[in-house]
Amino acid sequence: MAVFETRQNNIVLKGIGVSPGIVTGRAYVLDYTDVQIPHYHLKTASQASEEARRFRKAIRESKNQLLSIRKALTEEQGLDPLFILDIHMMMLKDRSLIHNTLQNIREKGVNAEWALRMTVDRYRQAFNKIEDSYLKERISDVEYVEQRLLRNLVGKKKETISEIQDNVIIISRDLSPADTVQMKMERILGFATDIGGKTSHTAIVARSIGIPAVVGLERITHEVRNDDTVIVDGCDGFVIINPDPEILKRYEEKRRHFHQLEQSLLKEAKLPAITLDGHRVEIGANIEFVEEIPSAIEHGADGVGLYRTEFIFINREKLPTEREHFLNYVRVIEGKGMKWSTIRTFDLGGDKFVSDAKLAKELNPVMGLRAIRFCLQEIELFKVQLRAILRASAFGKTRVLFPMISGVEEIRQVKKILQEVKKELEDENVPIGSDIEIGIMIEVPSAVLVAGALAREVDFFSIGTNDLIQYTLAIDRINESVSYLYEPLHPAVLKMLRMIVEEGRQAGIRVAMCGEMAGEPAYALILLGLEINELSMHPMAIPRVKKVIRGATCAESKSLLEKVIKMSSAAEIEDYVRKYMASRFPENGAEEKERECIAEEK
Ligand code: PEP
Ligand code: MG
Repeated sequence: MAVFETRQNNIVLKGIGVSPGIVTGRAYVLDYTDVQIPHYHLKTASQASEEARRFRKAIRESKNQLLSIRKALTEEQGLDPLFILDIHMMMLKDRSLIHNTLQNIREKGVNAEWALRMTVDRYRQAFNKIEDSYLKERISDVEYVEQRLLRNLVGKKKETISEIQDNVIIISRDLSPADTVQMKMERILGFATDIGGKTSHTAIVARSIGIPAVVGLERITHEVRNDDTVIVDGCDGFVIINPDPEILKRYEEKRRHFHQLEQSLLKEAKLPAITLDGHRVEIGANIEFVEEIPSAIEHGADGVGLYRTEFIFINREKLPTEREHFLNYVRVIEGKGMKWSTIRTFDLGGDKFVSDAKLAKELNPVMGLRAIRFCLQEIELFKVQLRAILRASAFGKTRVLFPMISGVEEIRQVKKILQEVKKELEDENVPIGSDIEIGIMIEVPSAVLVAGALAREVDFFSIGTNDLIQYTLAIDRINESVSYLYEPLHPAVLKMLRMIVEEGRQAGIRVAMCGEMAGEPAYALILLGLEINELSMHPMAIPRVKKVIRGATCAESKSLLEKVIKMSSAAEIEDYVRKYMASRFPENGAEEKERECIAEEK
């Protein structure tokens, strides 16, 4: 992260924009670390007993507080209890946390607050040594529990968060479900946090309530004081602290422009994506969490084009049960306003984290025991998921999608297992949907080359360009040093896309695309020219892509494709397509230019 100052001495922090939009407002620093930790030595045994009693009392109080938060969550707000609360509850029962703290009181002769700090410091050291960045971040849960206990020990029991009266921007290290559930959301203008990524709870909440958020700012809680004025630019991931009038004015213009554009796009978002010459493209939403469905509907998705079920594993130590899977899938499949739902089976491994030890460390995980390969080894785990999907299919139109298929043997094996699970459910008289479709991700080059044979095995293809580009161009999709080579319009990629669509068409099956490429408005005509039947993308991208499709013709798209596919370099194609799109859709072009200008000035 860079902290830099503009000419006017505005402090600008760069993080990850996880929920688009721009907002200016007063900062409310949610700082749990503001608890002053007293430190004193105990002189007598009775003092030690008194400290032990205080500690146990703080544990009880903390548990009761979490229980009432959970109650509020389930009863008042009608939401399922969030398992992170359960994890915090479990930590409060953790024997080593309790035992070590009591031991510190007795043996080191220190007060309860200090004894707890000593215990958590040891945890901090241990977590620091963990290489897996996801697991390493879990120290934030331990710290959350520590801060709650400290507040109860020093008598600051009131949650400041629920006292917020004015409209504010929340500045925090991170936000847990226990925090957000207490916030009066209508008073929250935006979030800016030290830690987190696209999948952190803060990001999900921000996206689902539609407020701008920037995470991963590393030190925002150190830079901002209560009542400072801050600008949160969730589009480009910037936070500006105490901006001068000139910057304020610039961002106010940017905000107004963003808002107007969003409003006008949203007004048309639910119109179908039909070209001027009458060709319809189905539009799906890519979701990672069921909470994103309302936003997908609002942004005009026809259905769920990709539900990345591996996210069910987030924050978990244990594998989810069939019932947990089932409840998730039902919520997706019966999502009102969605015509169909595509549930992709686990794509674990590679860059997808999992806390369960079943996944061994691999030298080259992206090419290792990942996705379907993992499921075909852990068949019992796979069956649990398949049972849950089939049971949920009774609640609405379901498509099951299998990731990383590289040849026909794999899909045949998968279908055999699916058949066994179906039979089991039929024998148990469990209802399942009658029109379930089976599809595969086309994201491995070998699958492209044998697409004809694969197409005869399934009802649809979904092209995963994120991985297909990675494997075709040999570019690690998360390695920044080779990211300049990650080119969706590379002629090799375009030729592959054409092969996939052609094979799909000959076999009479639908071809969808759910990689990031599908959500890039500048590529929409190319994809239209390829005659891809369905594009699935992040909900926020839908209105922009739909708008391009509605303003174009199939004939025009085809001639653009024919023109560029003859070009020999990716840069040439990209340049041609961007210029073409900027002149054809000047509104989109202007928006992009404006972003570039602001980023350059910084
Ligand atoms: C892809 O590879 O394009 C895709 C959609 O899957 P993921 O990004 O989850 O690997
Ligand atoms: Mg993929």
